[in-house]
This record gives sequence, structure tokens and C-alpha cells, in this order.
Amino acid sequence: MRVQRQLLFTGLCLAFVLTGFAEAAISDEPIFRAGAATSNITPPIDSDSTARSSNRQATHVHDELHARCLVLDDGEAKLALVVCDLRHISAEVVIDAKRMIQRMTGIPPECVLVSATHTHTSTGTRLEEGEGEPFYDYRAYLTRRIAEGVLRAVNQLEPARIGWGVAEEPTQVFNRRWFLTANRGVIYGAHDNIELVDTNPGYSGLLRPAGPVDPQITFLSVQSTEGQPIALLASYGLHYVGGVPANTISADYFAIFADRIGELLGAERYQDPPFVGIMANGTSGDVNNLERYSEEELAKRGTLPKKRYQFFEKAREVAHLCAEKVMEAHQSIKWHDHVKLSSLQRTLTFERRYPTKAEVEWAEAVKAKKIKPMSTSRYSTYSTVLAYASPEMPPTIDVVVQTHRIGDLAIAAMPFEVFAEIGLELKDRSPIQPLMNISIANGSHGYLPTPEQHRLGGYETWIGVNKVQLDASVKMVDALIEMLGELNGK
Ligand SMILES: [Zn+2]
Repeated sequence: MRVQRQLLFTGLCLAFVLTGFAEAAISDEPIFRAGAATSNITPPIDSDSTARSSNRQATHVHDELHARCLVLDDGEAKLALVVCDLRHISAEVVIDAKRMIQRMTGIPPECVLVSATHTHTSTGTRLEEGEGEPFYDYRAYLTRRIAEGVLRAVNQLEPARIGWGVAEEPTQVFNRRWFLTANRGVIYGAHDNIELVDTNPGYSGLLRPAGPVDPQITFLSVQSTEGQPIALLASYGLHYVGGVPANTISADYFAIFADRIGELLGAERYQDPPFVGIMANGTSGDVNNLERYSEEELAKRGTLPKKRYQFFEKAREVAHLCAEKVMEAHQSIKWHDHVKLSSLQRTLTFERRYPTKAEVEWAEAVKAKKIKPMSTSRYSTYSTVLAYASPEMPPTIDVVVQTHRIGDLAIAAMPFEVFAEIGLELKDRSPIQPLMNISIANGSHGYLPTPEQHRLGGYETWIGVNKVQLDASVKMVDALIEMLGELNGK
């Protein structure tokens, strides 16, 4: 496959901010500072749930959506980490927000990471497709609010110390792609082809999961020199939790974790500046919170009665478990008075995915009503296949990947819903340890399975929800490892 990788920017992020130099000059030693802030990004709601036809309108807000912003400053370079309570974040919004951030704070785009948590209940905030007027209104508002959040975090920069660690919570992550037992029958794919694995296959007749999970919660913590917690940023490879009523906006377990970890760290409700908890999405493209076990495992366990949850109850349970695990690991972190920050960014150009001849033939036959798809849900697939077959589709997709180094902690940022095994490979190969993975970062370009998972099939591998060449994950991992190697040499 043709791959053209374009090196757009690589280099250290130097943000020249006068106050930083002034303080450094007095003490001779560079001063490490941190500041954090949240910015409300809740979209408008309406009492009429049909107000917008192409995207369900929310009629209620359970909890507000936020852009949670953390800015670190080593006296020379700054790094802004932003995690938004959104299902996706479009590359265009990120570009515009970064431009605004650079104008407001001097922090260059390659030193700013903007990601989405992937809460599924930021209803009405899908940003990757053009829609009607309300969409554009919200897009401008969102862009502005992200930039303002970073500015407010910069305004609150104060001398700080930093530490990091890795906790584990293996009980809340389940690979959602399964091989099935023979009695479940044939698994039909996107164009009624036969596939080897099924996504979210129900709860019986399960042979084994088609991939691993990443049980780690990687976190970084900053506190003032007096010991007041400023912020804690964590990352866990869990799609989302859910259990939210219809047409309701909620930031899901991500926000509950943010509050709970503040409580556990002893942050005061009205401390100044307020504590900011942040939970980012790790690599969870194929990992959700629905407990599924193989037939073999079920035979060992016996059938346990399934607990019935109230709305939000499960999200609270998962958030509290994760916060407790992080708190345990937090007891033994090593605090650093100063660490060096450095960042690298690259734009990778991937070949856009094209439908196969068989897929196009199937889609054309469905369109001409010559055949009926095996399932009614496939009616949406046929139009996607034809759209991707169109010569008008751009032949390539540019995606931004980043690596950031914070002392001996590294962050890899990827603009996809990344499969867990890709995150695990990155963690395994990273020359800087530990590595925190943040997905749906700086854009969102669909699912990212490995070539092996593409061969198995399943929902995430279908054209449309997967947009790039089948070996894109290999190219992306190699690029990120190379970038981490470069940062390691600095
Ligand atoms: Zn999802």
C-alpha cells in the first residue's frame, strides 16, 4: 500500500512567557508550574426532541459537559492537556481552538493536546459531519470555550510539584469482540460476507474474546508547593459506561471520576484555585463495560444473577472503583519539584479506505432492490459502501499524532478509537516508561483495528466506521515509537 508520511512539524515547544523568565531569573533555578481550569461546553437543549432531524436533540442535562484543561510549565516550555466531555472531537475544531490558544497564551499547537472522553451522551454534539445551523453555532462556541479553558489554566499557573503512577482496574474492561461457539451459527458482516468474530454478541454461546484489554489506569498528579491538589489526569481504556436516560446529556463516568478523585485527594470544594480531575480515554476501540464470559468460564462460575442498575448507578460504581485504585497507587508516587517538558507532533497521511469489488457489487444489488440484506441495519451500510466507492471522496486522510514527555512519563496521542492491543504494543515498545495513551485526540477518524483484526471482521472493521488503509495501525505505532525515541534522546 502506498504510504506517504509527511513530516509537518517536529521540535521542542518553547512558549515564551515573560512571567516564567522573571521568576526563573530570581531563583536561578527554573521553576515548574501548573494550572488547571474547566470550561463548560454543554450544548443547547430543546423541549422538542425532534428539533433536529439528523441528530437527536437533548431535552435534559443531568450533568454539564466540560473541557478540562491542565497546563504545565517547566520555565521554558509549556504543555496544555485538554480533555472534553464529548463523544468525538473533529480535527477542524481542534485546529481552530489551537490557533485561538496560541493567540491567547503563546502556546504553539504542537504543545496542545485536545481529546474527547467518548461519553456517548453528549447528545447533539457530533462534530465530524456537517449538519444544520445549530451545529455550526455549537462548533464556534465549543472552539471558543476550549481556548478560554486553557487561558484560564495559564492564568492560574503556580509553582507546583508533579508525580505519576500506574494503577490497575481489570474488573471493568471487557473486550467486546468475540469468537462464537458453532451453535450460534454464521456471523454476517457489512456486506453479508461471513466473518469470524462478532461485536457485542449477546451473552451466550461465547467462545473467547478476539482481543485483549488494557487494565492500567495511568495518571499524573500536580499539587502546589504547599501540598494543595491542583489536578489529576488519568487515562483508562474503557469505551464509556452509560446507563443514562434517553435524550439526556451526561459526561458519564469520566466526570464522576474527576469529582471522586478530588474528594479522595482532599481537595476542598471551594479551594482557590479549584481542583480539576480529568479522566481521558485510553485505547478502548474494542473494549466496553459489559461483562461477558465464555461458555467455559460460565460453566466454572455458574450463572450469577445479573444486577439491575438504576440510571447512573453503574457509572458511579466504575468511577469510584477507578478513583480508589488511583488513590492507592497515589500513596507511593515520587514527587518532583521540576521536570522537563518536550513535545513532538507529526502529520501522517493515510490512504483512504476503498470498498472491495464484492462490497460494491453487493451495495449496488441492494440499491437496485435485487437482494435484501441479511439484516435491516445493513441498509445503512450499502449507502456508505457506495459513498466510499465514489471518485469524489478525497484519496487520503491526514491525521495528527503527538508524543509528549513530562520528566520520565510519556503521553502518546492518537486521533482514532484505538484497539486495546495497539495501546498495549505502544506501552510495551515505548523507550520512556510509563506511557499514557490518549485516544480520540486532536481529531477523530473512526475505529483503528490492527490488520489481524481486520481479517477477523466485526463491526469496527467495516468501511465507514473504519476510514483508513488496513495497515494504518502499524504505520501509526512505528511513527509514535520513533517519536518517543527522539524525545528519549533529548
Ligand atoms: Zn463508541
